[in-house]
Amino acid sequence: MQQAAASHPEPASEKASLLSYLVFPVTLGLGLLSTAFFSQQTDSPITVAIVVSMSAMIVVGLLERIVPYRRDWNVSRGDIGTDFWHTLINQILLSRALNILWVALLAGVTARLAESYGTTLWPHHWPLIVQLVLMLLIAEFGRYWVHRLAHRNPWLWRLHAVHHSPARLYFFNAGRVHPLEKALYLVPEVVPFIVLGTNIECLAMYATFNSIHGFFQHGNVNVRLGPLNYFFSMAELHRWHHSRLIEESDRNFGNNLSVWDVAFGTWFLPRDRQVGALGLQADDYPEGYLTQVKAPFQARDISKPIVPQPLDAVS
Ligand SMILES: [Zn+2]
Repeated sequence: MQQAAASHPEPASEKASLLSYLVFPVTLGLGLLSTAFFSQQTDSPITVAIVVSMSAMIVVGLLERIVPYRRDWNVSRGDIGTDFWHTLINQILLSRALNILWVALLAGVTARLAESYGTTLWPHHWPLIVQLVLMLLIAEFGRYWVHRLAHRNPWLWRLHAVHHSPARLYFFNAGRVHPLEKALYLVPEVVPFIVLGTNIECLAMYATFNSIHGFFQHGNVNVRLGPLNYFFSMAELHRWHHSRLIEESDRNFGNNLSVWDVAFGTWFLPRDRQVGALGLQADDYPEGYLTQVKAPFQARDISKPIVPQPLDAVS
């Protein structure tokens, strides 16, 4: 049913207003400023990040109605309930669990490392926004390779296929990730920073950035970034990553930044056409939350070649 709806796409919005260029940087800027400010007023910066992120999610949901990329992607395909549970469990419950884990590890492992070496390696004296950029570059490097591996390794692909199953893109798709894959991504997002001894304020900034970027990245908003597409892995790039055509979806692996795609030759943005059908090759992928959580462990064909495609196959 999803694929049938996707086979009759309405033309994407060709027009880009000033709003298209401003919505993402303005929302992200306000979100980061709010997180930095209110984190000083509380002893739970992660809670601030969650509140800011949920507020941004509502903003992106509204923008989908005001400046949609494709109007047919605003029509529910029975997927909202499934994405609600994915988002609730991954973005709120797991984020809270991460907060507890993070605080415990900072108090334990990081403190012991600092005791052994006299100081932590993390540049706490840098401006918070510069610390955030450093954290993004490090975390994105690990996430890039885990994500790229998930498109090659058949077992990891079974988990990752959940995220590629939607036939349309809208803000809730950001949360559609198998919980085990979400946990896997904690390795590049947590381990380096435990070793380096970063601080909870920077993690809160990262959490806000990650959420706001993710909602826009998957949102059905006509966002335009121009040359900033070489830095942010935003919707114009990420739509191709959700293409049903494997030679198009094996590109743009960046979660927040596209700089590692540029560095490793997987940055992909055709200028002369729009992305076609989205989703998996298989038409019968389960649509409910629990059935999607179980899907990787069931005997089903989730077709995906593990042989890398030549990068110049489509241009
Ligand atoms: Zn992917």
